[in-house]
Amino acid sequence: MTLPELESALTALGEKKFRAKQIFQWLHVKRVFDFDKMTDISIQLRTVLKENFCIKGIFVEKRLESCIDNTVKYLYRLSDGNFVETVLMEYNYGYSICVSTQVGCKMGCRFCASAIAGFVRNLEPSEILMQIYETEKNSGRRVSGIVLMGIGEPLDNYDNVVRFLSLLSDKNGNNMSLRHVSLSTCGIVPRIYDLAKLKLGLTLCISLHCPDDKGRSEIMPVNRKYNIESLINACKDYIAATGRRITFEYAVIDRVKSSDSDADALADLLRGINCHVNLIPVNKVRERNYSTARSGVSDFAKRLEKRGINATVRRTLGSDIEAACGQLRRDAAQSSEKNGGAEV
Ligand code: SAH
Repeated sequence: MTLPELESALTALGEKKFRAKQIFQWLHVKRVFDFDKMTDISIQLRTVLKENFCIKGIFVEKRLESCIDNTVKYLYRLSDGNFVETVLMEYNYGYSICVSTQVGCKMGCRFCASAIAGFVRNLEPSEILMQIYETEKNSGRRVSGIVLMGIGEPLDNYDNVVRFLSLLSDKNGNNMSLRHVSLSTCGIVPRIYDLAKLKLGLTLCISLHCPDDKGRSEIMPVNRKYNIESLINACKDYIAATGRRITFEYAVIDRVKSSDSDADALADLLRGINCHVNLIPVNKVRERNYSTARSGVSDFAKRLEKRGINATVRRTLGSDIEAACGQLRRDAAQSSEKNGGAEV
């Protein structure tokens, strides 16, 4: 619940409005998720709270720590027995967290592990937020950056993601500036226009991965509905409305749109747009035969730079713990099927 919603819910129960702010701070500042521990609230009101509200927790099912680079990957169990993944990454400026927005994904991108097991349900705003709160608590680290790049398509769960962003940045609560948040989408065009209207200050990242419609439709089915031209037009609108630079993500996959002529086509497509290209060496997915040679990525980057397009190469983190999203959840879901239920 947002603070105004909590205020009206409490006044409807005959309670004082200021109690809402106290409870909101217990949740979002002190991170206390048990009404009985909210000690400046009377025992009587705590009973009312327990009767009328619930605080849904998420639970660490598995925690994998990389020996190479301190990346920590969490498999969280939700209150209904479903699983999502969250990854904590260390950078020289601090810690960044990658959160999931859905259980599974409908988008079906060919190279992505999240797509293989299909879609189950949207995450609630609190379930997205709790990935951050629980990870901070479990790791003892404070995150300074958040990326919505875990399992799921954030713009396919638009309302809940926008609510999550408002809870995350509420001045009375967690108070995180949305300048430290990046939202990655495969390109749900109408929602990009909606997001632009909100002028949130976050960084929008577009999973482009291919400079032409034919090739993009082969690896990203969403392109059959929203083609590259409509996507680029939405991006231009987003930049005009928000004044923010867009990041285009491009997985450089051997033998798939990674040649010099592909780099040239990408540079032509993005020329004149206030953007930055983040080149991604593809993460290995067991069922797929994609790979990336390091030299291929740096050649691609150089070619783009030569054509005036700003490009960086994404660091590969947690390669020993399958930090590529979706793999851990699928393993857990498969073993729970063998055990005959969602609860393992
Ligand atoms: N659905 C959103 C966010 C989740 S995926 C989106 O599509 O952007 C986050 C990023 O990881 C996307 O750029 C996605 O294309 C990329 N990705 C998915 N599988 C990958 C893999 N095996 N290797 C490298 N990047 C991958």
